[in-house]
Amino acid sequence: MEYINLKKQYERISEDLRSRLNCVLENADFIMGDSVKRFEGEMAAYVGVKYTIACASGTDALQLIFMAYDIGPGDAVFCPDMTFIASVEPACLLGATPVFCEICEDTYNIQPKSLERQIKRVIEQGKLIPKAIVAVDYLGNPADYDELQPIADRYNLLMIEDAAQSIGASYHGKKCGSLGNIAATSFFPSKPLGCYGDGGAVFTNDEHIWEKISSLHIHGKGKSKYDNIRIGINSRLDTIQAEILLAKLRILDDEIQTRQHLAKIYDRELNPIVKIPTITLDATSAYAQYVIQLKPEDDCLDFRGYLMQNHIPNISYYPNPLHLLPVFEGIDTYGENFDFSVRHGRCNVGIPFSPYLSENEQQYVIEQIKKYFQEARK
Ligand SMILES: *Cc1c(COP(=O)(O)O)cnc(C)c1O
Repeated sequence: MEYINLKKQYERISEDLRSRLNCVLENADFIMGDSVKRFEGEMAAYVGVKYTIACASGTDALQLIFMAYDIGPGDAVFCPDMTFIASVEPACLLGATPVFCEICEDTYNIQPKSLERQIKRVIEQGKLIPKAIVAVDYLGNPADYDELQPIADRYNLLMIEDAAQSIGASYHGKKCGSLGNIAATSFFPSKPLGCYGDGGAVFTNDEHIWEKISSLHIHGKGKSKYDNIRIGINSRLDTIQAEILLAKLRILDDEIQTRQHLAKIYDRELNPIVKIPTITLDATSAYAQYVIQLKPEDDCLDFRGYLMQNHIPNISYYPNPLHLLPVFEGIDTYGENFDFSVRHGRCNVGIPFSPYLSENEQQYVIEQIKKYFQEARK
């Protein structure tokens, strides 16, 4: 059994892929080929924004956003304590300071109350200027933008949506990638829309920012590549990856529906043995992962060992809250309590999930989990 079954997805699209890749190889148009422009257009239409800039990774997409808005030394960037480090790493690289916020007990997304508390504390301390919020659609579930946006407005902060895990999800009928002032996503192979290597994109409706990022990601180009007007980076999506993504975009909505269907079965069978994912109100999740949370008294390591013994791959998303990572040792947490993110880190287990999980595989996973807890909680 695979944790995420990309091999079966490949079988489904292999014919289409082969002819697409043949074209790229025959045209020898590997960097910034026509396919990249076509992909950017289709992606913008899919997400419902004016502009997409394809780039080399989700991390680069975030870095380009921070660069475009001149975020740097002396700036505070707020983010949830439970996310992948890449949500704020590029801001740190540019000299800004991350300020971690507690997550919601149920959705694991950034908690609005904690966010506002942290903003007030930063202002009170007076050392940093609050600049931006990185709202992460954690595990594919949209953050609660109705709660977050008024806070961003009140303190005049940029709302960045980290939609790395949420392409295909929606909030009040609007697609993820269109929910903040600007958004970033990743096409890492295991994400809901993944390519066959690294890739990412920025989504925006702002023409000026689109122009700036279009320049920044190609060495700060001006009218041409050799007419440089600013210091930028080299971050492009390969033509080959664009063709792979165009093929996968055709089946994305169908895959998202299958994800919803499989998640419902897990929900029904595993609730209330374990804590099942809670989806934000009036939202649909892309279910980038299906992650369960055990009870604090359960032995998570023992459970994961049991799954491994029974050939059920599993991963912890993520085992460490950001404030406990060695790299952030000694960072100012402004006295915030991270009970929920610490608990989630300790007790979460991602179980096999993808649109290509078979009915038999899923039934087997469910049976084994039920069996384990019948014994363990006797
Ligand atoms: C994967 C991921 C990223 C980074 O994307 P890469 O393409 O791996 O650079 C950023 N944020 C979140 C929440 C992610 O899951």
